[in-house]
Amino acid sequence: MDRVAIRRRIRLFSLRLRELRMIAKGLLSTHHPIDVHLIPIRRCNLSCAYCNEYDDFSKPVPVAELQKRVHRLADLGTTIITISGGEPLLHPDLDEVIRAIRSRGMIAGLITNGYLLVPERIKRLNRAGLDHLQISIDNVTPDDVSKKSLKVLDQKLRLLAQYAEFHVNINSVLGSAVRNPEDAITVARRARELGFSTTVGIIHDHSGQLLPLSSQQQKIFDEVAAMSKRSYSRFYEFFQRNIAQGRENTWRCRAGSRYLYICENGLVHYCSQQRGYPAIPLEQYTRAHLEREYLIQKSCAPRCTISCVQTIALFDNWRHPQILKAADSPSASSVQLESQFAGKN
Ligand code: SF4
Ligand code: SF4
Repeated sequence: MDRVAIRRRIRLFSLRLRELRMIAKGLLSTHHPIDVHLIPIRRCNLSCAYCNEYDDFSKPVPVAELQKRVHRLADLGTTIITISGGEPLLHPDLDEVIRAIRSRGMIAGLITNGYLLVPERIKRLNRAGLDHLQISIDNVTPDDVSKKSLKVLDQKLRLLAQYAEFHVNINSVLGSAVRNPEDAITVARRARELGFSTTVGIIHDHSGQLLPLSSQQQKIFDEVAAMSKRSYSRFYEFFQRNIAQGRENTWRCRAGSRYLYICENGLVHYCSQQRGYPAIPLEQYTRAHLEREYLIQKSCAPRCTISCVQTIALFDNWRHPQILKAADSPSASSVQLESQFAGKN
């Protein structure tokens, strides 16, 4: 076994221990965010047709500001920070953000389209202490919907297999925007061949809502899901399977409490598809906000496809019914921000 593979094993073991601590903390207390998505830059180098989460002009958020946000999240008791975008690797100081996350004992994740990965960048991510990286691959060959294609990204996957000491997950996708559903099987097989874990997700509409799959796509979903090795992905596949079959899910969305989405302007939102709620600056976000949002019902929950929030909700679905309606939220009127973002895309 080579040196990178040995280091990867050691780091994976340490990550699993920290994940167990995160799970125990999440089960013992409801007063902290479990997973936070942090946006260091809204700009992306691609322009996937289904995406409403990017622009082609935004500057990177200054690193000092991002570090301040990381420390604020740590003070709120956050256990995982997942860096997303836009394309986060366009941020020149991303390593410093990852270091700040790790320095406060949190798990550091990264969601990227993978285009900017080169050996030196992967080694920098190793040194910064990245725990987990995910790439979603939409098809085998690029088309007018998406260029996140196996044909383009295979060389990047090989680099990750060679140099990455962190955990890598490859997500394949299904949905109406995907022209060749069988591509999901090819992507998942290739990922497993290279030693990565795999998940399968369903592309949602522009408000994060359910789009049922055809029967052919449902079969492919089952086949790809069966290849997943990671145990936690089994949980969200339960949600995704219902969505695939056009069924609504019964669950309690704890966005705004157990899951937060921090946009490039430093505002707290429910999720990438419900930007504008509650849209409170992170530095003013308190435990009282966390506790209130924990109890607020989200009307978009039954048809939601946002798998990361659904996974986090498993910590609390069995406890504390949500007794407040969204209209009771003092911040529900901040909806104007959503149209501001919608205009960018
Ligand atoms: S899906 Fe990702 S890669 Fe595609 S445009 Fe959106 S942010 Fe960029
Ligand atoms: S249910 Fe929650 S995660 Fe899903 S779209 Fe609504 S606020 Fe976002």
